Amino acid sequence: MHPIPRASALDDLRSRIRRDLETLAYPTPAWVEPVAAPDGTVALDCAVIGAGQYGLTLAAGLRRERVERIEVFDAAEPGREGPWVTFARMSMLRTPKTLTGPDLGLPSLSFRAWWEAQHGAEGWEAMFRIPRTAWMDYLNFYREALDLPVTNGWRLTSLEPVEGGALLRLGFETTAGPRRVFARSCVLATGAAGSGGFSIPDWMAQAVPADRVHHANHAFDPAILRGMRVGVLGAGASGFDTAVAALAAGARSADLCFRRPALPLTNPRRWMENAGYLAHYVDLPDARKWATMHRLLSIGQGPPKPTYDAALATPGFALHPATPWDSIRWTGGEILVEGGGRRFAFDAVIAATGMRVDLAERPEMAAIAAEAALWSDRYAPPPEEANPALGRFPYLDRLGAFTEREVGRALWLSRVLTITRGATLSLGPVSASNSGMKYTAPRLIEGVKRRLFLDQEAATWRDFIGGDHTELAREAVA
Ligand SMILES: Cc1cc2nc3c(=O)[nH]c(=O)nc-3n(C[C@H](O)[C@H](O)[C@H](O)COP(=O)(O)OP(=O)(O)OC[C@H]3O[C@@H](n4cnc5c(N)ncnc54)[C@H](O)[C@@H]3O)c2cc1C
Repeated sequence: MHPIPRASALDDLRSRIRRDLETLAYPTPAWVEPVAAPDGTVALDCAVIGAGQYGLTLAAGLRRERVERIEVFDAAEPGREGPWVTFARMSMLRTPKTLTGPDLGLPSLSFRAWWEAQHGAEGWEAMFRIPRTAWMDYLNFYREALDLPVTNGWRLTSLEPVEGGALLRLGFETTAGPRRVFARSCVLATGAAGSGGFSIPDWMAQAVPADRVHHANHAFDPAILRGMRVGVLGAGASGFDTAVAALAAGARSADLCFRRPALPLTNPRRWMENAGYLAHYVDLPDARKWATMHRLLSIGQGPPKPTYDAALATPGFALHPATPWDSIRWTGGEILVEGGGRRFAFDAVIAATGMRVDLAERPEMAAIAAEAALWSDRYAPPPEEANPALGRFPYLDRLGAFTEREVGRALWLSRVLTITRGATLSLGPVSASNSGMKYTAPRLIEGVKRRLFLDQEAATWRDFIGGDHTELAREAVA
């Protein structure tokens, strides 16, 4: 058997994609009216912030729906969007290889088609889970094959309503200085930290010199840990991945400590990956959504099994349940940690302490945070489900748009949608992940289209009433 030459196989795939897009192009007429911006330009129909998997998929989907004045902006360099080749350290994705989403229903646009074009059907069968960097390569191919309008190196720093809330003014920081763009709608697809952040806890950062403390979700080269005794706090997937990456890069040991008495052995998120749950979590009553997320947070989420197995098989790795860090001290030469009745000496420590949802932490969300409803504004849980962290999640509508805290004060919020971790209480626990994209991306696309269509509803009515809709020539009357 001869291997398929990679370049020509991908060229064939590009042709298949073009053909499939043509086949499913219905309906083709343009329908979104241009709207003038205050600076004399035509406003974008939609500005998508973030060119990760979601931003690209939303752009592709909006274009198929003939929303054409779109632009995707990303702070990162081309090819380095999202976590995949920056701070993600697992060897393969954590979710099953069969997931779909970016393809928006087109087989030729799927990861599987891209993989099989290069490795054949046997290559697909032989693969257990999608290699992490292959996922980034696929996203790069997707962007290029669809010729998506992406501008890299632009960081959104502000988003405000103008023209009485009919338009949004977006402020960007770019290498060429500040820039301004007007748009009729905006989707913030800014990733796992996009509605808050990850940071090293203050008590850790203050106790230890900056070059000896890192966050598992920050980009750093694990080679800086060569020869070191590394302490990791937190037993989520990223904690395990960072411990394994440190050992692979030559760290002397990696001790992973966590507060719970044992690792969570269950992962109901996998169970939720069925067509009913993924599509209709959004339709559940608030009380059920809250209870679901509260329970998921209480159960916790351990690493995927392959990650766990890899860690336990790596010499130098040790797991310490029931070991919160009660004290941490820099002696001038090493870091002394005490917790759970144990004492450790480390050369470097890693916070694998997860991410927060808090709109106030994101400068680009300042105007949104001032007006948007949070879950704490809309729902009071029973005392046994009290959870201030969940209360800070934005209360989104079923298509992913922010809603007003005080009705009638900030209607412009219906122009701003988000798919970040903060969206998960409203839209579904895995809605912001690869495994939820198949259902969430079409919902957001519908949200943008709804806003644009309702904006021009009066003009559409006038066209209906006053337009020339002749289909037949008038009959000749004898
Ligand atoms: C380490 C890690 C591993 C994960 N592994 C899996 C997995 O295996 N399976 C799974 O289902 N899910 C996984 N997830 C969850 C989820 O799928 C990912 O977070 C995924 O990257 C989300 O895609 P996204 O497009 O929403 O955001 P991202 O891929 O993070 O892209 C967001 C983009 O927004 C840009 N951006 C952010 N702020 C701004 C701004 N102000 N202005 C301009 N650009 C901005 C960033 O530069 C980034 O490129 C993982 C998450 C992490 C953090």
